Amino acid sequence: MKQIIFHIPKYEENQIYEKICQAFELLQVEKDLKPDMKVLLKPNLIMARKPESAATTHPLIVSSVARWLSQHGITQVLIAESPGGPYTAEHLKTVYQVCGMHAAEPYAKLNMEFGFESVPTPEGFVNHTFNLIKPVIEADYIINLPKLKTHAMTGYSGGIKNLFGTIPGLQKPQLHYRFPDIEAFSNMLLELSLVVKPQLTVIDGICAMEGNGPTGGTPYSLGLLLASRDMYTQDSFAASIMGLDPMSIVMLRQAKEHGLIHPEELEPIGDPIPQGLVPFQRPDTSNLDFSSKVPGFLQKPFTAMMKRVLKSYPKLEPEKCIGCGKCAESCPANIIEIRDKKARFRKKGCISCFCCQEMCPMKAIAVKKAI
Ligand code: SF4
Ligand code: SF4
Repeated sequence: MKQIIFHIPKYEENQIYEKICQAFELLQVEKDLKPDMKVLLKPNLIMARKPESAATTHPLIVSSVARWLSQHGITQVLIAESPGGPYTAEHLKTVYQVCGMHAAEPYAKLNMEFGFESVPTPEGFVNHTFNLIKPVIEADYIINLPKLKTHAMTGYSGGIKNLFGTIPGLQKPQLHYRFPDIEAFSNMLLELSLVVKPQLTVIDGICAMEGNGPTGGTPYSLGLLLASRDMYTQDSFAASIMGLDPMSIVMLRQAKEHGLIHPEELEPIGDPIPQGLVPFQRPDTSNLDFSSKVPGFLQKPFTAMMKRVLKSYPKLEPEKCIGCGKCAESCPANIIEIRDKKARFRKKGCISCFCCQEMCPMKAIAVKKAI
């Protein structure tokens, strides 16, 4: 499977467009498309953050892909995302504005329709249905545009994880609550990815995020744009570039167990694979890599045991908290209250999903280990 790798040191419009053109030519994307198709672009717009924070897909990646589609006669291009928080016009307007998505408007529309539909899943799935935002249901062709990041709960965020933003608004925390354990949650993500099935994934790793991703980390200038039709193998490849062991990331280990990752078929094209990179800093919650030190057949029970011992909880840094309530709104366990303009956490019932940390605009939530 062709894996396109381009070195792009910074966000420069013409260079990004040129590389998108080259990548799509190498992947022969034109052959997939017909002028009357509805094409959906799914960036990562997790919250209203400026592009330079590296939490969201850069607008120049989104606008370059939309421009390429427009140049190839595709007129129905929609940009859609269900960010953290409510899936409403007011919230989406702010997210589009702050994330710079209007840059793509000459070539694409920004979704402002807030319906969703329940989609049945194939036999054998744990989840019998997924509620997906309407643009996903209606699309003929989906281009997944994730941001490359470390992630407090899943360890890694790329193509598979980006598709969690196809679940409408506050139904996302409900899924966290239904699948509080990392194994079950990762399996849910994997099943979701098999239902959404994007045809193409272009990862924005020009400025990635390390540390307490997906929103509270720090930018990492990696200078890479990755594109592939095989999202799973690409995610495994991208994680290894970050210095992560892909098999220590539960969703990637599960994808491998399901026969979805094929490193032996990976055919790198474009610029050379970068060597000697400084490994990405892990999130403070990171306790995911110890399993790689034990034999494969012991990894699952060992991981489960160590997770109990090393469980992490959110810890408020009160001086940074402005009492906005976004953490409480996103907490699936409903254990956060705002009192005297400060967030108050009840430890009992916490499922360590870190949705609160993800949604905090002030980086006021740190991580505390159970022991
Ligand atoms: S912890 Fe963050 S999200 Fe929660 S109320 Fe304080 S500032 Fe808002
Ligand atoms: S307090 Fe934070 S980590 Fe705990 S359940 Fe609520 S959102 Fe998840």
